[in-house]
Parts: sequence; C-alpha cells; structure tokens
Amino acid sequence: MSYRINPKSKRGWIELITGCMFAGKTEEFIRRLKRYQYAKQTVIVFKPEIDTRYSIEDVVSHSGIKIPAYSIKNSKEILEILNKNKNVDVIGVDEIQFLDLNIVDILNQVANKGIIVITNGLDKDFRNNPFQNVDRLLYEAEYVDKLSSICHSCGGNANRTQRIVNGVPAKKDEPLVAISGNDKYEARCRHCYIVPE
Ligand SMILES: [Zn+2]
Repeated sequence: MSYRINPKSKRGWIELITGCMFAGKTEEFIRRLKRYQYAKQTVIVFKPEIDTRYSIEDVVSHSGIKIPAYSIKNSKEILEILNKNKNVDVIGVDEIQFLDLNIVDILNQVANKGIIVITNGLDKDFRNNPFQNVDRLLYEAEYVDKLSSICHSCGGNANRTQRIVNGVPAKKDEPLVAISGNDKYEARCRHCYIVPE
C-alpha cells in the first residue's frame, strides 16, 4: 500500500480509501482513524444517515470492528459540528458516495484549515459507472488507495460490485441506492461481472 506522509509537510490533507465492496475499505478507514486516537489526537467521525446496515451510532466493518460516528443527513452538518468542537485534528467520513455533492468542497475547506480528512467510498456503482464524490476525490485527494476484493464467483481479483436482486443481477434501471432485505452484493472480477441490462 502506497501510504506515505512526509512528516515535514504541513498538516491538513485528504486521504481517500476506495474500491469495490468487500475490499476492506471500512476496516482500513477505522484502522487509520484509531491510530490517531491512540496518540490522543481529537478525531470526529461522520457517516451518512442512509447507511444503517449494522448500527446507528457506529461505523462497523464487515468483520465487526467499529468506531463511533455522527450520523448526518447533509454535508453542511460537518461544518456545524466542527464549529462546536475546536481543536479537531482528524475527521473521518464514511461512505462518501452517499452524501450530497457539496461534500468535496467542504472537505477541501476542512483540509485547508489544517485538519486531516480520511474518507472512504465506492469508486463505482453496481452499473460499473463512477460514483459521485468519489469521482472528484480521485483527483482532489492527496492520497488515494484503491483496494480490490476477491471475486465471489471465481476467486480472481475483483474490482466491480454486482448487485443481486431476488437471485439475479439487478437491472440497469433499478435505483442506485437501495439497502433492503432482498438485495445482496457480490464482488466480481471483470470476467464474471454481468453488465446490467
Ligand atoms: Zn471472477
């Protein structure tokens, strides 16, 4: 992993952890944030309210490690919460593709003020198209790590997310964001990924 910070550089930058589902993005996100907590740095974590997969107050990885987070509906709430909490060293923003389009500008403002921003998000949706916010952060962030997964069909290297509804690949016109009981997701390689029709 190409994660190198020059210790002489001024503080305040953006780190993006991206890739498909089941690549370990959330675990890597939590790991990076916890290092700052161990060093007694002030860390505040945010997550979009839409994501209630496991719990409301925590960001939880598939393997169960977690970190407490503010659930936010709107990216401006990050600035409101930071205004009430001075001396913040690091913020984390989970699942950035689910926040509104102002989030990238807000993260730039936060980083410009000297705060370290660590964020994660899917680079592509289930149609294999770029996901909002992550697309911009790929060039705005100082540090980008793209993690891959293992194909759930063949065991190869996967960088795509297949959405399965009632046992078959989701159609192209299904809503982009649906976290319901009938959906499941699989990591797929380019050969096993089926382009939604
Ligand atoms: Zn495969």
